[in-house]
Amino acid sequence: MSNPIYQTVIVGGGFTGLFTALHLSNQHYPRSVILIDRNKRFCFKPLLYEYLSGDMDEQQVVPCFEELFKGSGVIFVQDPVESIDLNQRQVKLTSGDCYNYSNLVLALGSVTSYFGVEGAKEYALPFWTQDDAIAIDRHLRDCLQQAVQIEAPEQRHRLLTVAVIGGGPSGVEMAATLADLLPNWYAGLGGKPEEVRVVLLNQGNVILKGDNSSHLRETAEQELQKRAVPVQMLMEAEVTAIHPDLVKYKRDGKSETLSASTTIWTTGTSTHPLIKDLAVSDEHRDKHGRLQVTPTLQLLDFPEVFAGGDCAGIKDKSLPPTAQVAYQQGQAIADNLKAIALGNDLKPASFHLRGTLLKLGLQDAVANIYDVFQIKGEVGHLIRQGTYLELLPTPIHNSKVTAKWLNEEIFHRYINSGDGAKTAVRAVQLVGGAFVGVIVARKLLQILGNDDKSHKS
Ligand SMILES: Cc1cc2nc3c(=O)[nH]c(=O)nc-3n(C[C@H](O)[C@H](O)[C@H](O)COP(=O)(O)OP(=O)(O)OC[C@H]3O[C@@H](n4cnc5c(N)ncnc54)[C@H](O)[C@@H]3O)c2cc1C
Repeated sequence: MSNPIYQTVIVGGGFTGLFTALHLSNQHYPRSVILIDRNKRFCFKPLLYEYLSGDMDEQQVVPCFEELFKGSGVIFVQDPVESIDLNQRQVKLTSGDCYNYSNLVLALGSVTSYFGVEGAKEYALPFWTQDDAIAIDRHLRDCLQQAVQIEAPEQRHRLLTVAVIGGGPSGVEMAATLADLLPNWYAGLGGKPEEVRVVLLNQGNVILKGDNSSHLRETAEQELQKRAVPVQMLMEAEVTAIHPDLVKYKRDGKSETLSASTTIWTTGTSTHPLIKDLAVSDEHRDKHGRLQVTPTLQLLDFPEVFAGGDCAGIKDKSLPPTAQVAYQQGQAIADNLKAIALGNDLKPASFHLRGTLLKLGLQDAVANIYDVFQIKGEVGHLIRQGTYLELLPTPIHNSKVTAKWLNEEIFHRYINSGDGAKTAVRAVQLVGGAFVGVIVARKLLQILGNDDKSHKS
């Protein structure tokens, strides 16, 4: 164990933890920084759909921490955290190693909740991590392989039916992605694409209810019907049990069943068990058990401890549990840690909610910019991907991936097509004029500039 006096330990390397560490490194933080995560790779969750569909690869969506921290001075430890003792200022890992800290950052995110639905944990597939995406990919490919060889219609239909549980943003994005992707995969095996069925089951009467993307509902509902196979919507369907080939639900007071060989669980989060176990009183937690923090993102009883992202909430301020918020909190925590190290005053974290992005198919998305205007379809898709590429960690990773994306998406897709340049210019205007960021806008302009010259010569 190294010097416990000036050691900052970050537990969890998601959006909050990773960006805290990277910002500290960029700001030449004078104390040692250790980031602990159970996984070897950071997971850029909003792009997991692209990973599942094969549009983006491992290096882009789930880069290794070792690579991200190269040359940063941040020490990365891959080991699950077993317990955290706030009074002793000590973090204990599964390997038995312990780390003492002078400052701690709690950035453990949240966990999936199955609401006690029978069979959900055993038979439904979650979509939360790289391993989940790989498991879903394998399972779906296996179902399609079997289906193409089966004559019996009932059995084949069951294999070709996917039930997506939950009508929040993840459920909508998953259903839209699969409704484009699976017919494509199935046709590739020689099957009839129109036989694929994607069913979205939602307990509420409308999708995206109570979410910060609820104003995109109408667009989402329309786009879900325009996929390669239209998504079937089962609203007010309360799922009661999940079996390997069957979903049981209640609707209008009646018990019903849906035959489906694949069930994907996208609904429900709950407080991380390590956060629940902390020595923090109920008065200093919100109604979900998340930690309540001060505007400077410190625990009320332990000011040396910061918390952000999905595992914390600011007292009297409601912020959505999103990557956008977690990323900005990481930056604010880093600023305040540096202020402590230099003996300066701490500042309250400020947030800029720049809009909402929703994936609505393989090349389709809706971008709601600053809640002022909506851009949908392929240009919306470009804005969504460009925005996330801008957020990708570290400039090296960011520029490598951005260049690849620009080359594949913009250059080949738009500029090489008939009226592509016009579409790309429109994208540049939207991208540059909105919020996607200088890197994307500048590179687009560069490509267009070259393209323009080559047309003129
Ligand atoms: C499929 C999906 C799509 C999403 N799409 C969007 C989107 O489009 N836009 C958006 O803004 N938000 C999106 N979100 C939400 C967003 O990803 C989260 O709000 C964000 O990741 C929260 O960041 P965090 O740092 O709090 O937690 P996380 O990013 O979840 O990170 C938590 C980290 O803690 C680690 N950890 C957990 N337990 C332990 C342990 N015991 N020991 C060590 N390490 C541990 C995990 O490995 C992980 O790296 C999406 C989420 C999902 C699941």
